[in-house]
Amino acid sequence: MPETRLLAPDAAGLRDAAAILHAGGLVALPTETVYGLAGDATNDHAVAAIFAAKGRPRFNPLIVHLADLAQVDRFAALTPLAQRLAAAFWPGPMTLVLPLREGSGLSPLVTAGLNTVAVRLPAHPVARALLAEFGGPLAAPSANPSGRISPVTAAHVLAGLGGRIAAVIDGGACAVGLESTILDATGAAPVLLRAGGLATEAVEALGLTLGSPRTDKITAPGQLASHYAPRGRVRLDVTAPEAGEIWVGFGPCPVAALSLSQTGDLTEAAARLFHALHEADTLAGPEGRIAFAPVPDTGLGRAINDRLRRAAAPR
Ligand code: AMP
Ligand code: MG
Repeated sequence: MPETRLLAPDAAGLRDAAAILHAGGLVALPTETVYGLAGDATNDHAVAAIFAAKGRPRFNPLIVHLADLAQVDRFAALTPLAQRLAAAFWPGPMTLVLPLREGSGLSPLVTAGLNTVAVRLPAHPVARALLAEFGGPLAAPSANPSGRISPVTAAHVLAGLGGRIAAVIDGGACAVGLESTILDATGAAPVLLRAGGLATEAVEALGLTLGSPRTDKITAPGQLASHYAPRGRVRLDVTAPEAGEIWVGFGPCPVAALSLSQTGDLTEAAARLFHALHEADTLAGPEGRIAFAPVPDTGLGRAINDRLRRAAAPR
């Protein structure tokens, strides 16, 4: 990857940023919370590249940034609760987890295969201008290497991700400097999933009572061992599949029915992962057996293996 470009937040900079995003590249953008690392949320490869650039060891779901409520309605169901919260706090530092619309076109990597999606309408004028110019949904976690401090200036982004992403738009320092408050708005009462830039007192001032987190529901998707698993038995690190097993290859595996990446490319494998899990599930059926070829445990391979271990966990 060549040097990361520093783009000005003007018409030319936004045009260049939107072109990079349409081509599947990554652009860090200022929002009122922290700088986000944005990629086209409908493009599996772009979303996989976000995880690769951050060095994230897990495919946790990403927040989808949108321009307006009409766009939200295309990807998620605006529950009555969501409409109330949106009217009060959007655009702004609030993220809502909503039911995902079937056929939304979002990459399953964005939702980690869940049937909910986290969406936000940012208030920062540069983020809004880029969303308008791009015209689609942008997946954007914070623009820092995994485990490091969230960036609140373009210089922070360059220090952490310089040389690993195509560009950063310089919009100055972030006003809020804290991540967004995440509320589950799928039910009747809002449930706080992450404290952040919007105070919960402001939510309660609307006359809403925060519900307690439901323990029967996956709020942190990575926590449930067998989450998003095919119905049949799954074996990992298989170099010689048994007769009748659906073998999902990685690298050259001539007799494999499916492949994460025939060339052994980890970004391609991450982009294909949820699709391959679905296809293997369909091919194998409820009583079938699925075997995955070994995937190296480096870079994106760690997140892929984390997800495969969950798919293979006994249940
Ligand atoms: P980040 O992208 O780093 O700001 O983190 C996004 C946060 O949103 C993570 O803590 C996720 O667990 C949470 N999140 C995103 N999508 C969902 C979802 N569909 N359901 C529940 N939590 C979500
Ligand atoms: Mg973060």
